[in-house]
Amino acid sequence: MHKFDIVIIGSGLGGLLCGYILSKEGFNVCIVEKQSQPGGNLQTFTRHGHKFETGVHYIGSLGPNQTLARYWSYFGLMDKIQFQQLDLDCFDRVAFNEEEFPIAQGFENFASQLLRYFPNEKQALDDYIRTIQEVVSSFPLYNLELPKDHREHHYTTQSAFDFLQNLSRTPNFKLQIANFKSQTPLSAVLAGNNYLYAGSHFSPLHVASLISHSFISGAYRIMGGSDQVSQALIASIASQGGTVITRREISKIGQLPHLQQKFILETTTGEIFMSNMVISNIHPAKTLTMMPPDMVRPAYHKRIVSLQNTTSSFILYLSVKPGSFPYLNYNYYYHTSRDPWNESAVSEKNWPEMFLLSTGCHIPDQKYAETVTILTYMRFDEVAGWENTTIGRRGPEYQDFKNEKAERLLQLVSLKFPGLSAAIDRMEISTPLTYRDYTGTPDGSLYGIRKNFHEPLLTAVMPKTKIPDFYFTGQNINLHGVLGVTIGSVVTCGEILGLEYLLKKIQNG
Ligand SMILES: Cc1cc2nc3c(=O)[nH]c(=O)nc-3n(C[C@H](O)[C@H](O)[C@H](O)COP(=O)(O)OP(=O)(O)OC[C@H]3O[C@@H](n4cnc5c(N)ncnc54)[C@H](O)[C@@H]3O)c2cc1C
Repeated sequence: MHKFDIVIIGSGLGGLLCGYILSKEGFNVCIVEKQSQPGGNLQTFTRHGHKFETGVHYIGSLGPNQTLARYWSYFGLMDKIQFQQLDLDCFDRVAFNEEEFPIAQGFENFASQLLRYFPNEKQALDDYIRTIQEVVSSFPLYNLELPKDHREHHYTTQSAFDFLQNLSRTPNFKLQIANFKSQTPLSAVLAGNNYLYAGSHFSPLHVASLISHSFISGAYRIMGGSDQVSQALIASIASQGGTVITRREISKIGQLPHLQQKFILETTTGEIFMSNMVISNIHPAKTLTMMPPDMVRPAYHKRIVSLQNTTSSFILYLSVKPGSFPYLNYNYYYHTSRDPWNESAVSEKNWPEMFLLSTGCHIPDQKYAETVTILTYMRFDEVAGWENTTIGRRGPEYQDFKNEKAERLLQLVSLKFPGLSAAIDRMEISTPLTYRDYTGTPDGSLYGIRKNFHEPLLTAVMPKTKIPDFYFTGQNINLHGVLGVTIGSVVTCGEILGLEYLLKKIQNG
């Protein structure tokens, strides 16, 4: 039996950052992780000497004095990890059939690069930049400031799609597409990297804006793998007296009302952890299924377990022959149509409708790629036939399914990168089941709970629950992604320590 002040379930980025903050503040913290490798989406894997990222391909606002850099300075990460800034004039290349557009860093540069393709859209680009800057200023934690009013609500109830559609001179998106037979509309280009938030007609304006703003501010790759982030955090947590235990899957959560410790957590192998506080870094719906029915109100339980999740992904991890494929210091998004808003719900018949290609960053001044990752959406129901299987034991039909899909995806990719197939040395493939089993997200969902501007309050999960001393953190509160989860960890720990107190410490580095 293990006793702690605080047990954190899951060692994803959110769990590790909370562990860092609270162990630094003197709490006896234990992070319990079900996998052998901690980090959740920060996990990497190595095959034949090549290291692959699984859930962090690039991160935003890491430039000097930018938001994530300021938060990560407090977490002691900035001087421990090497970052590679993506190309200033094009960190994302967005392609629709034959046309390609650069998404650039720095707001002036961003506008001037796109103005070369859309000379009549200066007003629209100015409006776009002004709006995403206004959205960010309505979320003061994105500027390390204490939230004062609730201006953010204004943007959580607006649609990202409607906003982009109305920017352009031709407001109707279908008309825009019809009018621009040979030229993609600006609104589609601005949504061209919406895989970053699984863009759909439900996406709220604030999600699209906070994410786009952070990447336009400064877009970086982690050189050598994002597992370094979890390793650095774990070393700091240990030096601050905290503990990270792997290979322990929590399966039951109970309360002990009359004892010194309030919570009892049990693993699948019967190991017991007791604590005064619990932070769950795993999906809220999964967390609730581990509790006895009377631990939360039925209405809360019903709301949380009925929330929709973002769709999942199908990913190819390619190691390429030495000197055979260039290292691209940008990400490449390709779309088969000019409407990127329906791709996350793609049907099997039309699959794949898009892909994101990203080369791994291993060394400074890299000329050739060692690894290439190709991501696209995939719905869980495509693999539902194997949902009761486990990693490595899914059978030959599953292997055939993966190979057939990989071939289809590679066919699409070779339209834009004809030399890639010949450059491939080896290939690994992941499906929604892989993510479900490695990160514990329901149905392998890319980014957890799907935010919906029609129902912003219904799809919001607060870090503080009605159970005293029980909290949530991670991508399902606040926002997904490295920046969203980092700010979410501060919001969660702010509930415990006082947000003003914690922010002052972070502001001071
Ligand atoms: C394919 C993909 C690409 C992405 N690319 C980017 C990107 O380029 N940039 C970016 O900023 N973001 C990206 N993201 C999003 C980002 O990786 C995530 O939002 C973020 O890492 C989630 O962190 P988290 O703290 O919520 O925890 P998670 O990473 O979800 O980790 C949760 C942890 O809990 C553990 N766990 C689950 N159940 C239990 C249990 N019962 N007991 C114990 N432990 C348990 C899991 O094993 C896991 O380690 C990507 C995500 C995916 C899936």
